Amino acid sequence: MDLGLAGRVALVTAASRGLGRASAEALAAEGAAVVICARGREALDDTVRAITEAGGTAVAVAADVTDPAVPERLVRAAVGRFGRLDVVVANAGGPPPGRALEVDDDAVRAALEANLLTSVRLVRAAVPHLRAGGWGRICCITSRSVRQPIPGLSLSNTARAGLWGWAKTAAADLFADGITVNLVCPGLHATDRVEALSTDTVSGPLGDPADFGRVVAFLCSEPAGFVSGVALGVDGATVTGLL
Ligand code: NAD
Repeated sequence: MDLGLAGRVALVTAASRGLGRASAEALAAEGAAVVICARGREALDDTVRAITEAGGTAVAVAADVTDPAVPERLVRAAVGRFGRLDVVVANAGGPPPGRALEVDDDAVRAALEANLLTSVRLVRAAVPHLRAGGWGRICCITSRSVRQPIPGLSLSNTARAGLWGWAKTAAADLFADGITVNLVCPGLHATDRVEALSTDTVSGPLGDPADFGRVVAFLCSEPAGFVSGVALGVDGATVTGLL
């Protein structure tokens, strides 16, 4: 299947490792030029090298995506380098664990900043450029906690549910402009972060980040143009609710 991504330009945040990196690699494999960001230069350079060696095009910007000025800067970097922007994959590191009554105001604010506001700012900065091209794909990498709150992860459950409400609204607002907005909701995948957790806290099979990246690439594709406002689980059937 031709995903129609050749010649497109994609911005993927928090993409030097894990699910963000896998998404950038999958988009690049489909012919999109990718602009990636993360805080550490070394892992970023390694990702750019891997994409380039595989025949793709990638540019890295070292930046902390939770800095309110960064989304605008990343969009400017993508448009400055490639002259357009078509795809945004918004990703950020996950919040720490915490039971509902144990998290203080600062922890809640930090989670909202990282896992809700970063996406809102990125989309706000990117949309004028997507509208200019009459086409756009926005995917936010979240968690299966969007579809079923996870005990002990109150910060993730809170910030990501808020993002889901916002993204659903944005999807309706932007569809007439040819722009789709979706969430991708991973269950456990074999990333560095998860592999660093003890086996006591991780049980059951782990998803392959490369497959996750291909799901993101499909949602960002030409044929997925009528798929918008969806929170797509990529969770190995671990979410047991009906919706
Ligand atoms: P990871 O730790 O393997 O990779 C995170 C990436 O984000 C790295 O490249 C890191 O440098 C970058 N990053 C982190 N904070 C950043 C910041 N402030 N600014 C710029 N870059 C930043 O993590 P992962 O497992 O790929 O998870 C990605 C997202 O998916 C997280 O929000 C995580 O909570 C969520 N998630 C992951 C899983 C899983 O099983 N891997 C499951 C559910 C949800």
